Amino acid sequence: MDLSQFSHQYDHLSRDVAAFKRAISNKLMYQVGKNPESARPEDWLHAVSYAVRDHLVERWMKTIRASYAQDVKRVYYLSAEFLIGRTFSNALLALDLMPTVRQALAELDVDADAVIDLEPDAALGNGGLGRLAACFLDSMATLGVPGFGYGIRYDYGMFRQQIIDGQQIEVPDYWLAHGNPWEFHRPEICCRVRYGGHLEQHGDTVIWVGTDDVLANAYDQIIPGYGTEVTNTLRLWSAKATEEIDLSAFNRGNYFGAVESKNHSENVSRVLYPDDSTLSGRELRLRQEYFFVSASLQDIVRRYLVNHRDFDALPDKVSIHLNDTHPVLAVPELMRLLVDEHALPWARAWALCRRVFSYTNHTLMHEALETWPVDMLGRVLPRHLRIIFDINADFLAELTAHNGHDVDMMRRVSLVDENGERRVRMAYLAVVASHSVNGVSALHSALMQQSIFADFAHLWPERFNNKTNGVTPRRWLAQANPSLAALLDRRLGGGWRRDLEQLAALREYRDDPEFLHAFRDAKLANKQRLADYVRGHLGIAIDPGALFDVQVKRMHEYKRQLLNLLQVVARYQAILADPGADWVPRVVVFAGKAASAYATAKLIIRLINDVAAVINRDERIGGRLKLVFIPNYSVSLAELIIPAADLSEQISTAGTEASGTGNMKLALNGALTIGTLDGANVEIREQVGDDNIFIFGHSTEEVAEIRAQGYQPRSHYAADPQLAAALDAIRDGLFSPAEPARYQQIFDTLVNWGDHYLLLADFASYLRAQERVDALYRQPEEWTRRAVLNVAGMGVFSSDRTIAEYARTIWQVAPLEP
Ligand SMILES: *Cc1c(COP(=O)(O)O)cnc(C)c1O
Repeated sequence: MDLSQFSHQYDHLSRDVAAFKRAISNKLMYQVGKNPESARPEDWLHAVSYAVRDHLVERWMKTIRASYAQDVKRVYYLSAEFLIGRTFSNALLALDLMPTVRQALAELDVDADAVIDLEPDAALGNGGLGRLAACFLDSMATLGVPGFGYGIRYDYGMFRQQIIDGQQIEVPDYWLAHGNPWEFHRPEICCRVRYGGHLEQHGDTVIWVGTDDVLANAYDQIIPGYGTEVTNTLRLWSAKATEEIDLSAFNRGNYFGAVESKNHSENVSRVLYPDDSTLSGRELRLRQEYFFVSASLQDIVRRYLVNHRDFDALPDKVSIHLNDTHPVLAVPELMRLLVDEHALPWARAWALCRRVFSYTNHTLMHEALETWPVDMLGRVLPRHLRIIFDINADFLAELTAHNGHDVDMMRRVSLVDENGERRVRMAYLAVVASHSVNGVSALHSALMQQSIFADFAHLWPERFNNKTNGVTPRRWLAQANPSLAALLDRRLGGGWRRDLEQLAALREYRDDPEFLHAFRDAKLANKQRLADYVRGHLGIAIDPGALFDVQVKRMHEYKRQLLNLLQVVARYQAILADPGADWVPRVVVFAGKAASAYATAKLIIRLINDVAAVINRDERIGGRLKLVFIPNYSVSLAELIIPAADLSEQISTAGTEASGTGNMKLALNGALTIGTLDGANVEIREQVGDDNIFIFGHSTEEVAEIRAQGYQPRSHYAADPQLAAALDAIRDGLFSPAEPARYQQIFDTLVNWGDHYLLLADFASYLRAQERVDALYRQPEEWTRRAVLNVAGMGVFSSDRTIAEYARTIWQVAPLEP
């Protein structure tokens, strides 16, 4: 395919301002149905989005046509979550249309920034895992990898977080309320997804009958590549009742019953599960997972058969990637399609499956590993349970043939956990079915092979590998941080957007006073932007000259926001004890949502807000310490907060954070990291150098050792007066005078109930690291120099690098050739 021809072919979509004004006005009139006098800002947003979208559609059609013509191998990235954020600015960036569109809107008397701010985030994910999927889509398109994302079009995405009286309130996020100009509804692409029923055996064949069905209807989003014409597709499925309403019930006079059953079947795509680190084990979740997996697999097989008459070439044309275990039912579903619907012999189908699937593990935490009760699976998906049993029988037989009859081993690796209520282990099914199993950082991939998958890593060492996560430089630098991006463009040219390793050239400027000055100015502009937001939305004044100390991520005990807060309380007490000392002014920023059922995480949010209320109004503190909790952390808020950070808090207990990507975004935007040797922090240290990062705390091995010896958090409490004073203040109600016992439980969790995440064991080391931070911040030149070296070292953490590795070693796909 000659991609260079594209630009000529869509010349009729003019890029000049006058033509764009006409296009916007036309869209407003003919597509939105408004005239300029009555148009609301939302109407202008839709009109300009449609005008911009036209520029993507032709590229998209061409990519699709070319991929059929070349019969390329395609990658299907199956993920229950895609945390995309906004699309409009991202599309303008990809098309290099930002200046044109700004000018056109200005001439139409429309405030571009106000319009940009109106777009709701597509928040179809919880946190890191969903955002990774979104960064991967961006990188696949940019690298020209023929890739599809497949997921669920949730009516309600991640809840909106309000803070009322210091407490988190969850508000439903009906993100589609005003329509979504970026999606194309495909009423003709509609797959039947079956549930329930029972199996009938006819000789050797099994027939699945008596099912309750739902239709999966496709909605496509365009995924533009940057600096390429290649444009990919994210296909999201929405549930639709098989009948508009149950007419027979209607005719019997049961009108409401008929409507109710329609509602019930459409519930499957209604809402995202707002929890990313514990297993909910709810049947609706199981139904959701099967819903999008079944529709996607039917769609994939249909597309394959456009160019092929048999399945021999399936593994050469189709690669299906499982983003965590949520889509693992794709394995029995492909087996069902091949064996039941296309009459392939079992062994042949299994051999194909084993070459098609690959799997990424995202967590080692036991409470997050998915298992489904055999009873539930048998009720909801009887055919799939039978297939899983058959896969398991084959697997255990093969194991016995190779390793002899080792009952202990069989019990350990069986796909069915027989201890107590029988449950299917979805992660094991993923490992058995996949030709590649990867972790998401070097440390995590190693631990994965030593812990949860140790037996499998022993059986099949060649199957296991590491792919350290990355983030897209388009959204997380070019779009989020225009001031720094402009500076980089002046010094390095614009090539870093597609080749982030070019940032390494910044090392040459580390002693260039003019550059350091400009770098500081860019940071200051971003801090001012955040300060304006905080004043406008929270009524809190923060000084852009202070050190901005940022911890933004999901609220979870393992991420240890509470350790950070203990440090803030200790600092507060220290300032009060020695008000005359030369304190480095700090603004400590938190943001993050807690799962709605996670009481401890919600209590920690409340504590942060209670502590903030006391500190921020204590006049003895002056401007030396401010604490802000910014509500409703989201991709768009991340784009505002991250470029303003001086210090990045990555302080999880070693061995618990698989990779982290927030750590990468922050360092890329010139924050220095204070962190443990956990997840990708280890690799960030390697890239930026030991002198340019603040590492503290116990290592993974030490954590294991401490636990094995019988950890005694109380001994730290007894031995460290600073720690004890901070904990006592929280326990005694200093921050909750109206209800002094409010935080007794937090004290107990740490001091009396085992402190599972070792906050107290790391506290002293953390405090010392914070002192090193202060000392460095007193030397602005030196601080900036190290910040520059952080940016310079981040080239490797582009998701382009990650995707190039997946494409070459796991998927074995080539980019569309220009
Ligand atoms: C990057 C990102 C995350 C992941 O942050 P971690 O610090 O890696 O946990 C979560 N939520 C949003 C909105 C993000 O952009």
